Amino acid sequence: MDNFGKVDEKIVKALRNIVGTSGVVYEDRTALENYSHDEAGGEYYAHMPEVAVKVESADQISKIVKLANSEHIPITPRGAGSGLAGGDVPIYGGIVLSVEKMNKIIEIDRNNLVAVVEPGVVTNDLCKKVADVGLYYAGYPMSVETSFIGGNVATNAGGSKVIKYGNTGHHVIGLEVVLANGQIVEFGGKRRKDSSGYDFVHPFVGSEGTLGIFSKIYLNLIPLPGKTVDLLAPFKDIESAISNVGKLMIESKTLPSAVEFIDGLSVKLGSVYNNIKLPFQDDAGAYLLVQYEGRNKGEIEDLYEIGGKVLTNGGAMDVFIADNRTNSEKLWRIRRNWLEGVKSFDPYAPTGDVVVPTDKIPEIMQYISDISKDYKVQIPVAGHAADGNIHPAPMKPKEISPIEWKNLSEEVLGKIALKAAALGGAISGEHGVGFIKKELLKQTKSDQYILMKKVKSLFDPNGIMNPGKLF
Ligand SMILES: Cc1cc2nc3c(=O)[nH]c(=O)nc-3n(C[C@H](O)[C@H](O)[C@H](O)COP(=O)(O)OP(=O)(O)OC[C@H]3O[C@@H](n4cnc5c(N)ncnc54)[C@H](O)[C@@H]3O)c2cc1C
Repeated sequence: MDNFGKVDEKIVKALRNIVGTSGVVYEDRTALENYSHDEAGGEYYAHMPEVAVKVESADQISKIVKLANSEHIPITPRGAGSGLAGGDVPIYGGIVLSVEKMNKIIEIDRNNLVAVVEPGVVTNDLCKKVADVGLYYAGYPMSVETSFIGGNVATNAGGSKVIKYGNTGHHVIGLEVVLANGQIVEFGGKRRKDSSGYDFVHPFVGSEGTLGIFSKIYLNLIPLPGKTVDLLAPFKDIESAISNVGKLMIESKTLPSAVEFIDGLSVKLGSVYNNIKLPFQDDAGAYLLVQYEGRNKGEIEDLYEIGGKVLTNGGAMDVFIADNRTNSEKLWRIRRNWLEGVKSFDPYAPTGDVVVPTDKIPEIMQYISDISKDYKVQIPVAGHAADGNIHPAPMKPKEISPIEWKNLSEEVLGKIALKAAALGGAISGEHGVGFIKKELLKQTKSDQYILMKKVKSLFDPNGIMNPGKLF
């Protein structure tokens, strides 16, 4: 892995010939620094690339990949850099290939309900454009305003609406991919069905840049839901909150579009950051935030009545309803800005991401609480209650130095991840493995891990595509 070729003047000249001088960032340390990290943990997980290139087409990507392959130079695809697993950090240097200029929405096809986009489209730009024509892109994560579609596909991003609509992968119906040998191949497309041979689209979903680089993405669209209603319910503890999740679905005979939870500590931190006070925040141990969608006011009213009854009977201290945008925004602000709220108190707090079967949430939460006491570390937690995806964010105690904290927080999050896997879950539900969780992947996926490595060597025999990630 460490015998990679180096980027020299000859390589830089070749790159400039491919993308033009302005598309190559070289020797300018300040500019290169932007391509050295994601949101995983700033300087502690950063590594400088030797060069960064901003591509504009599949053809340019292909030429760069061919060059990298022949010179055995590592190549790291980069989206918006909002990742939380170090996936786009060029840990072996080499070339960072940024798709930031490939930001065209190529087509919104209303007949087939398909969007065709370049990988550098900001997710929210697509959401807004399709909403303008009465359509909905449901695969977006909560980082919708910053992340790119390509990064979402590469991490198989999730969000609050996975229970109803599935994660990003559920909405990817086709990909144009530049493979490690420079070949440009189209998998899937606008067609909705295809049982002619292996499905090659989905092995690329969640591949974190290790198998190829997406240059075009075909996405499933659906009709824009008419109306939404949000219910906020404080509970004395997490167990009583989670016991309502299944009932909310069964009794309303419909899938909520979101059932989020946030623990009492997170609400206290978020309330300061967002300058809002939630009801019962001094007493509640956990909150559920439930969203239903309906076609019209009548349907919405039925849903919030049923949902409200379920929550009240299930131990909610009260139920607050928001059926207009302004009130809904107030309820969602603390959950949506959860990470920012925690980081405003501790910029060193890393974000964990584990998934368990939903009914195991109380068990993993108890484990997190035990770890918090053992290590004398505060751990605010929020997550997607409906799909079992939990985000613990351990906060650095004042007396520990940042570098000691890097190791200690990895230990804490590693234990939580292993526990999640032991409960029938996985070490990541949506952020991916990057390089930060690769040891945990090895420990928890055994047979699958060997198969994954075989797939990797089939697509990338020389190991130049985002080396050091996943494996
Ligand atoms: C405040 C905040 C909230 C977040 N909320 C969520 C959330 O709700 N759900 C969630 O899932 N994540 C969330 N994230 C994490 C992050 O936004 C997602 O992982 C996102 O999908 C990353 O997209 P990106 O464009 O920033 O990709 P990057 O971080 O740049 O890259 C991520 C991975 O994708 C690969 N990649 C990027 N582009 C391509 C391409 N064209 N071809 C092949 N590989 C490529 C990279 O090599 C890397 O491995 C959050 C992050 C923050 C900071």
